[in-house]
Amino acid sequence: MTAENTTYKKVGESIPQPRQVNPYGPNPADYLSNVSNFQLIESTLREGEQFANAFFTTEKKIEIAKALDDFGVDYIELTSPVASEQSRKDCESICKLGLKAKILTHIRCHMDDARVAVETGVDGVDVVIGTSQFLRQYSHGKDMQYITNSAIEVIQYVKSKGIEIRFSSEDSFRSDIVDLLNIYKTVDKIGVNRVGIADTVGCANPRQVYDLVRTLKSVVHCDIECHFHNDTGCAIANAYTALEAGARLIDVSVLGIGERNGITPLGGLMARMIAADREYVLSKYKLHKLRDIENLVSEAVQVNIPFNNPITGFCAFTHKAGIHSKAILANPSTYEILNPSDFGLTRYIHFAHRLTGWNAIKTRVEQLNLKLTDQQCKIITSKVKSLADIRPLNIDDVDSIIKDYHADINTPQIFPKSAANGTADIIDEDISIADGPAPKRAKVNGH
Ligand SMILES: [Zn+2]
Repeated sequence: MTAENTTYKKVGESIPQPRQVNPYGPNPADYLSNVSNFQLIESTLREGEQFANAFFTTEKKIEIAKALDDFGVDYIELTSPVASEQSRKDCESICKLGLKAKILTHIRCHMDDARVAVETGVDGVDVVIGTSQFLRQYSHGKDMQYITNSAIEVIQYVKSKGIEIRFSSEDSFRSDIVDLLNIYKTVDKIGVNRVGIADTVGCANPRQVYDLVRTLKSVVHCDIECHFHNDTGCAIANAYTALEAGARLIDVSVLGIGERNGITPLGGLMARMIAADREYVLSKYKLHKLRDIENLVSEAVQVNIPFNNPITGFCAFTHKAGIHSKAILANPSTYEILNPSDFGLTRYIHFAHRLTGWNAIKTRVEQLNLKLTDQQCKIITSKVKSLADIRPLNIDDVDSIIKDYHADINTPQIFPKSAANGTADIIDEDISIADGPAPKRAKVNGH
């Protein structure tokens, strides 16, 4: 026996199967990735308040905060208490709700703001200051030395009150990388809980995000939080890439509402993350509540859920083409990366159109509790296609075609046998697609 032969398996001995690796999940060799260990900072009540249509009453803020807490978000971020007197009172009210999620408020890097913030009862303070040339020149007009000194003062004060502190630059992707890394290193040394990167103008692409987060990860020990605007449509992709590069926390809002066209949407990020690590996402977040939360917020800010919204867009789980429908009916994974039942939703096969296939029509026949053969379903399908070539159809149109056909073939019809003797007989007629129009008569024996 040769050496190789010793590795042969005996008959009946089980062969170890290779571990299934999710091809859409984190690369197991990527030690930086937090794709399976991320947290959400939900900012509908801060960034979302900057959405053009947003006006939240105290009651509505409380309702939204409770819904987000129930969903399972890790943090809820609120508008700065110095924005207005009501904002301060609302912040205090939400802190008193005793939610599981930690409550944060978002302030400028300024001692006046910090003093008010810590008095509201929040669990943490998110501090932000502009570091890009644009902001230094046209917004606050301060140099990096001034920014660093203010940051140190505010951070030490907030820490002395025993609550969490995050320091973020604003417009990070248009800031000088040396300035950025210097200030992040400084605040990391004095003990911030998190540093934040913000793509305030939505200019960054995923490769730039990966590079910046990875570089920052190599100079700080604390967690990294990321905030992505969606001006160029990259907010979800950038968030995912940031997690791959080692960021741990992502800012989101319901439907992505925020300044201009907003930020990474909660639902869209959930779609991305469940494709990557279903177990982790299902263990943390009540995904079946997503639609209710989106409806709550969309009504509050008077917008519709976009038709192409991930998960909850009206056609997100609608399959249309005949060839897709056939495969979906056999195995939904053929054309679905997300399972609608994970979100308390159901898939829908759209059959009232000229691209329909007989498998979809057959399923509809079964839903209507009618018994028809495959051949008969094919005849109905050709009738549906003929009518759909003339005008748009709805479900009722198709149901009528099905029911009429079913009634026709089950209704006995009597025809005169001959004009001469005046007697009548029942006509048998086989069904054939080649005959074109559906048969008007069928066997009645046994009925
Ligand atoms: Zn923002």
